[in-house]
Order: sequence, then C-alpha cells, then structure tokens
Amino acid sequence: MIFMGPYHPSHLNAWLWCAKQLSIEGFERVDDPNPRWSTQFGTIIHEAIEHWHNGKGVLLDLFRKSLADHTTRYHLEQKPDDVSMATEALAQYAKDFHAQCNAENSVVSVRTEVKCRTTILNSAGREIKFEGTIDQIRRLNDGTIQVVDLKTGKVADGFDYEGLRRSYQLWTYSHAIARGEVFIDGVWQRLVSLPEAMILHFRKFQPYKRNSQYGLKGEPRKGRVSQVWITEEGLDSFEKRALQIVRALRFDIFPPNPSKCSLCSVTAKCSLSMGLELNQNETLGALEGIPGIQT
Ligand code: SF4
Repeated sequence: MIFMGPYHPSHLNAWLWCAKQLSIEGFERVDDPNPRWSTQFGTIIHEAIEHWHNGKGVLLDLFRKSLADHTTRYHLEQKPDDVSMATEALAQYAKDFHAQCNAENSVVSVRTEVKCRTTILNSAGREIKFEGTIDQIRRLNDGTIQVVDLKTGKVADGFDYEGLRRSYQLWTYSHAIARGEVFIDGVWQRLVSLPEAMILHFRKFQPYKRNSQYGLKGEPRKGRVSQVWITEEGLDSFEKRALQIVRALRFDIFPPNPSKCSLCSVTAKCSLSMGLELNQNETLGALEGIPGIQT
C-alpha cells in the first residue's frame, strides 16, 4: 500500500500516534453507520457553533437542537456530564466571542468549515499536496487573520502548553493561509498572511494526574485557549517534519508503537504489537540517513 496523497493533517497525526494502526485502518475515513456518543459529541458542538456564526439562532438553542437531532438519529445515550460541560463551555464561547467583537481590534468576519489546500516541495522539487478543512478563519479589523481549531476531545498532558506547537492540523491550516489557498465565497483565494493560531478547548482542564515536564501532580492546567503566532521559521520546520512523515508513508514504513497498544482498537489485527521497542520519532530520524530515499 503506497499512499500518494493528497495528505490530510490526520494522516500525519495518525502516523505519529501509531503508524501500524494507520496501515491497518487504512487512509480513507469511513463514516461509522452506528457512531458512538464520543464521536458525535464533537460533531454536535461544531454544528451548533457553525450555525450560530451563520446567524441561525441562539447558540445554546442550536446546541440543544443539534443534541436532540443526533441523539434521536443514532439512538445515542447522552452523557449528562458532557452535556452540562458543553453547555457551560458554549455559554463561555459566546461571551468570549462577543467580547472579541466589542474589543478595539474587533472581529470583522468569521468563516466556518473552510476548505484549504497547500503544497510543499520535496527535495526533488516535486509538489506534495496537503488539504483539509479549517474549523474557523476569523479576520480582525487590523487585518490579522486567526485560524481556529475547536477541540472537543480529551486534553492530553501538556496539550495546553505544547500541543499547539505540535498540532499538525493548525500547522497545515496555517501553511495554507500563508503559502497555499483557502476556499471562500466559492473561489480559491490566496491570503498570504501569517496567522495567529488558536485552539479552543471544550473539555474541562483537570489537574495534572502525575508529575511531568508540563506541571506537577494536582496543579491546575492552563486555560481553555491556546494561542501562538505562526512564523516563517515555524512553517519551514513544519514542512521538514511533514515531508519526513510523507516519506515514510510513501515508502510503506509503518512501525508499531507499543506505547499506544492499551488505547488501540485494532490490537487483534496487529501481530507486531508485542515486544517491539520501535518508536515513530526514532524511525523518522533513521529515515533521514538512508541514501536515495526521497519523498
Ligand atoms: S496494537 Fe499497538 S502497535 Fe499494534 S496497531 Fe495497535 S497501537 Fe499499534
């Protein structure tokens, strides 16, 4: 199986999580006919926010409507803790957004679910294509562009501090805004702007469960919003890293990552999961040293 793209940020994230799992599950995303609460929960929040920005009603009403629709359609059992957490987080989202609209440097437009595409040249000068869908692009009245990713999943240790720098979604989207194209008003447009990247978390930040480089056990995590300015240097290092992973995908290099086996849904299909100490980052490093291998 050699996958030639276009690549999505999810491919890059999935390869790093466990490349073996990616090769077993395949590259095409197949919609689950019987989705679970955990996957629909994110869709419900995204849908409510998208409809709100498109002027279809009051945010919490839209959330309740989306919640009822999805629950009925897929026979889901709601998790009351998640619903109350989302209600609180959405009320805060609306408040923060209104505050941003009333600030001196206010939001002048919000586009939701924006398709984007970009290319990176490999060492042989060949174009490697990437594409995706950006949750939101906000334009401020001083011309600043913000690229926003709404995160509804669990927050891993360190995500509030370091995750944004490691988020291939935000880097791919930012690359498209700075060096590629976005699809707005029915036209592919080049924005040629270094955006401010933001992750808005919809899960509560629990205190750290163990001591780590990010914080000590019991300490509160940092806030719901992570922001960073994208730089040309940052985009250059994203390009290098993305090409390393693409090189592995094109050369059919899918090492297992036993550190993730306890969270894996395809263990039964993985004969290589036990006893191997391979690590994705080491594999990428080793690939650099193989002469003749180009993306
Ligand atoms: S069982 Fe472990 S090594 Fe195998 S695919 Fe799953 S996470 Fe990867």
